Amino acid sequence: MSERISPLLPGATLGILGSGQLGRMLALAARELGYRVHVYSPDTDSPAGQVADREFVGRYEDLDAVREFARTVDVVTFEFENVPSVTSAACAEIVPVRPDGRVLHVTQHRLREKGFLAEHGIPVTPFRAIRSLADLEAAAAELGLPAVLKTASFGYDGKGQQKLRRLDELPAAYARLGGAEGIFEAWVDFAKEISVVAARTAESEFRAFAPFENAHAHHILDVTFTPADITSALTDEAVQLARRILESLEVVGLLTVELFVTGDGRLLVNELAPRTHNSGHITRDACLTSQFEQQLRAVCGLPLGSVELRAPGAMANLLGDEWLAAGGVPDWAAALADPQVKLHLYGKAEPRAGRKMGHLNTTGSSVADAVERIRAARRRLTEGR
Ligand code: AMP
Repeated sequence: MSERISPLLPGATLGILGSGQLGRMLALAARELGYRVHVYSPDTDSPAGQVADREFVGRYEDLDAVREFARTVDVVTFEFENVPSVTSAACAEIVPVRPDGRVLHVTQHRLREKGFLAEHGIPVTPFRAIRSLADLEAAAAELGLPAVLKTASFGYDGKGQQKLRRLDELPAAYARLGGAEGIFEAWVDFAKEISVVAARTAESEFRAFAPFENAHAHHILDVTFTPADITSALTDEAVQLARRILESLEVVGLLTVELFVTGDGRLLVNELAPRTHNSGHITRDACLTSQFEQQLRAVCGLPLGSVELRAPGAMANLLGDEWLAAGGVPDWAAALADPQVKLHLYGKAEPRAGRKMGHLNTTGSSVADAVERIRAARRRLTEGR
């Protein structure tokens, strides 16, 4: 039986652990609905802090400061899954944390995450735990090469990942783990990468955006478009997998499932993120509800919003590299010469190579039109410079 839980209505204060761009866009959505927003992270003048009502600055391990923050809010969520579990536990002594600490615990460790998925019958890339060179050699013998060796914790955007091609590379690859626990994954020769952003409320209402299709460059998301170019059967299957994952983890909030589509049309879950996702940025301009508003609704116990697509859409990330290529500030006006293109910047002062600074969104008459238009807009940022 679903339990009726009173929603936290506008006027309440949302607490966010982490203060990057995902927190910024969540804070903007929350403020549009009339919520107050407090953020907590070690950074000052952060992307989320700039648009929040209050920016708390402190270490995640400073539990007195974390509790002081939690006492000023009505609910806590996070925009960054590498928040230590003690931080979320300290908040949970005072207010609800959504999704709860268990979801964080499972998803911040690749071995726990893949183990949980495999136990629940969700298809994942074949994997092995690596705690010694002997483990690594055994995994390579059983699952074969090429393969990927990842650190079990604190990885994102391909950080802490090594591709293994030959047996003689194993000792050096193991040494590079520096004693950290690792996960060995069979190499997936995927046809495409997709993601499903889904939300679930405390009353078990579930809604998922249609899968996004993602193209990466140098391990970082480059361009996303929606709807993904997959069959409707595969779309349904991906959404059903997401539903099973959110239900078995009892997620209250929003969670993203990253999947590989294999050449023979199977789905394998690559990774979970218990939060909004870079690929979901397109929802702000292409869907009736953005992923950020959906996260807010799920966390506050409001009914979920429609995930309907207004039009095919595409998103292009803007990394610090654009500033470097432009030799200064990119030509925003040139990108916006296409009136359907929308610019979203995160308020980060320092454009470094590989750093996510913002993105461009557009809708189009078709996916191909949207993708072409967003790539052209991004090219114009540096062309005349
Ligand atoms: P991750 O940090 O696990 O999301 O990995 C970042 C990117 O590396 C993925 O989006 C893939 O493009 C690639 N990748 C990760 N794991 C594998 C794998 N087992 N086989 C092939 N490519 C992978």
